Amino acid sequence: MRGVHVQHNKLNEALARPALPQRVIIPLHQHTGAPAEAVVQKGDEVKAGQLIGQAKGYVSANIHASICGTVKDIKEFYIPTGIKTKCVVIESNGKEEKSFMDSLPESAAREELLARIKDAGIVGMGGAQFPTHVKLDAKKPIDTLIINGSECEPFVTSDDRLMIEHIDEVIQGARIAMKILGVKKAIFAIENNKKEAIEKVKQGDIEVRVLRSVYPQGAEKTLIYNVLKRVVPMGGLPLDVGVVVHNVATLKAIRDACYEGKPLIERVVTVTGSVKEPKNLVVPIGTEFSYLIDNCGGVSEELAKVINGGPMMGIAQPSLDVPVIKGTNCVLAMGKSMVKRYEEKDCIRCSKCVSVCPQNLLPTTIALYAKNKKYDECERLSVMNCVECGCCSYVCPARIPIVQYAKLAKAEVIAKGRR
Ligand code: SF4
Ligand code: SF4
Repeated sequence: MRGVHVQHNKLNEALARPALPQRVIIPLHQHTGAPAEAVVQKGDEVKAGQLIGQAKGYVSANIHASICGTVKDIKEFYIPTGIKTKCVVIESNGKEEKSFMDSLPESAAREELLARIKDAGIVGMGGAQFPTHVKLDAKKPIDTLIINGSECEPFVTSDDRLMIEHIDEVIQGARIAMKILGVKKAIFAIENNKKEAIEKVKQGDIEVRVLRSVYPQGAEKTLIYNVLKRVVPMGGLPLDVGVVVHNVATLKAIRDACYEGKPLIERVVTVTGSVKEPKNLVVPIGTEFSYLIDNCGGVSEELAKVINGGPMMGIAQPSLDVPVIKGTNCVLAMGKSMVKRYEEKDCIRCSKCVSVCPQNLLPTTIALYAKNKKYDECERLSVMNCVECGCCSYVCPARIPIVQYAKLAKAEVIAKGRR
């Protein structure tokens, strides 16, 4: 398979739950699709789990209060996806009152389960934060659910810990997804560097496929090929080849919403890198990064950058005041000793970037066209199929930031479509 071998730098720390933060900043647009619309006002008292943002349209997601307290403000903040968007600021009142939905019985019908997942504001927690109810309401015949437990990004261990400590709930979530999709077959895909999780997963009655640890094993199209030998066509989706892929955190959230009535208000975040005590923390959505780092004993050296996600696909953040969103699986604090700056040199035509690209693209040519603002040429070279894995940049001896050029070209192609 294409891809690269990376240093894993994985943590082996059990899940920990710090004290609730004094305030949370909850973005109304932290998912793919339309932003939610605020249904609370400054001064309102809210309980954990209460709806504060109503989804607008089909491809959108509800947003809920993640702690109990007072709405102090509704204003724009920068969030980890790099956009500035309206957020609901809640100040804690110290109480732990909840406003959850009723739990559904195991016999609940498909439509009831799907409606619950929509109401709970569940989105994909491993990547693009695409609304889960839309993905599960597949309009094409599906025969297989792949449970994505590969977690191939270096440093990130949030899914690993969920598999080790909550495998029963993850599998219950998978059963719900199978019922909604109407499929009989599910395959648990997991990388071979997660020994303890593999043992747990094998105790269930779902077929397990142990895969080599090669980055980006967890990318949907790569995973589908490696598990089922099916090729998702260029520009196509997994459902075009009869497959839906869900990561383990999303499946646990599905289970919690259906059987506990709990909306998506918290998640596991690996806090690691240059912090004194790296941890896997369970925290409310909206918790500021600075609070996470304080709960890991503070930084161990002066920081050069902080990343939402892992080092390959994550996004560098402008400050530590940004909030955890539904897709934040890791906060990677990188001290000065972890970061090197390189100067971009001329391409030496070694073709290393071409040989590692999991999407069979021509990264070197795309980068060259993007650098010269020839975005139509980038589009012709299928840049929209780039999964932004960063393998090309990782191997490039000329230190060309190829993935950044590809991202720029994609943004320009999308912007052209809107003009
Ligand atoms: S061009 Fe895109 S998909 Fe190909 S290696 Fe680079 S980042 Fe990954
Ligand atoms: S890896 Fe870098 S130097 Fe080699 S062909 Fe690709 S862009 Fe050029």
